[in-house]
Amino acid sequence: MRVDERDIAPGSEATEVACRRCATTVLVRKNSAAQTSVQWRGDSAATCTELAERRAAGLHPALVPKCESLTASIDEAVADGRVTIT
Ligand SMILES: [Zn+2]
Repeated sequence: MRVDERDIAPGSEATEVACRRCATTVLVRKNSAAQTSVQWRGDSAATCTELAERRAAGLHPALVPKCESLTASIDEAVADGRVTIT
């Protein structure tokens, strides 16, 4: 996976992580080992098929912050050292 630093806002410590299933990219920032912030760009359900399916099933968007594949992709990025605690 390629992390494009040009897309990260100047001065921010966030790292771009792409969902391996839907290719949605989010900005990830880790404040501590237990806390990870994820910032969506635009409408998540418009780009993530998994989220779109869950919303279609009646789940409120706020209860579906990210899809399983993205969660796994973020965990991987953290394990790889691409997302560091800032
Ligand atoms: Zn996804």
